[in-house]
Amino acid sequence: MSKKRVVYEGKAKILYEGPEPGTLIQYFKDDATAFNAQKKAVLDGKGVLNNRISEFMMTRLGAVGIPTHFIRRLNMREQLIKKVDIIPLEVVVRNIAAGTLSKRLGIEEGQVLPRPMVEFYYKDDALGDPLVTEEHIAAFGWAGPQEYDDLISLSLRVNDFMSGLFAAVGIRLVDFKLEFGRYFEGDSDVPRILLADEISPDSCRLWDFETGEKLDKDRFRRDLGGVTEAYAEVARRLGIIKESGETDNVVSFTGGK
Ligand code: C5P
Repeated sequence: MSKKRVVYEGKAKILYEGPEPGTLIQYFKDDATAFNAQKKAVLDGKGVLNNRISEFMMTRLGAVGIPTHFIRRLNMREQLIKKVDIIPLEVVVRNIAAGTLSKRLGIEEGQVLPRPMVEFYYKDDALGDPLVTEEHIAAFGWAGPQEYDDLISLSLRVNDFMSGLFAAVGIRLVDFKLEFGRYFEGDSDVPRILLADEISPDSCRLWDFETGEKLDKDRFRRDLGGVTEAYAEVARRLGIIKESGETDNVVSFTGGK
């Protein structure tokens, strides 16, 4: 494990001070948590897979014009990122009913939604990340009106791009969560919004097109087993892991670098 100064430690990642001002190192742990950390486990190799999958997604999204915090991957578990002030909102985009949408509104899981839906949750572990409306966001100043519009349009662009990317490898993008941050470039006091955090099977629901098999964190939430194997399958289909032998290496990898 690195000896660098810890800036922030979350449930699945650690942020260290970066080598240059305005940068951080994002370290992916093997820890898995669900239901606001009431359920916990260590899944060997999960951090390695999420580091690679998130690198892949952020790089592809950057290439189609979505500004992201990603700079480069440093090693098996770490990536260099731009330091941002995280906007205290989780943006969830849904294409198919599942999870809390199904539970809250009684919509049958698996029902294709009439259109992609964007929801906002206030990032607060003590409150269990409650669903909030535009009214709350504006009144409490969590995001300005222009930022609010940008969050929606960026999230829908991410959804269009990732839905296609996953569909091409036989995976249905059911829903996912994004986080964004404000980045101050140079001396500018007008921040740019960057896509931040991670995009991985921890933050997406991914179902096999043919079988409906879950290839995401619901395997952990619902005790289905084969969590890292499912994440490795996602990485393999995306072409991140080429050989089945290499998959085994990644899954059994537990070292720091
Ligand atoms: O639980 P819910 O149905 O609201 O989750 C919607 C999507 O957002 C899922 O893909 C889930 O993995 C993701 N999510 C997340 N982190 C949270 C809450 C939800 O990655 N704190």
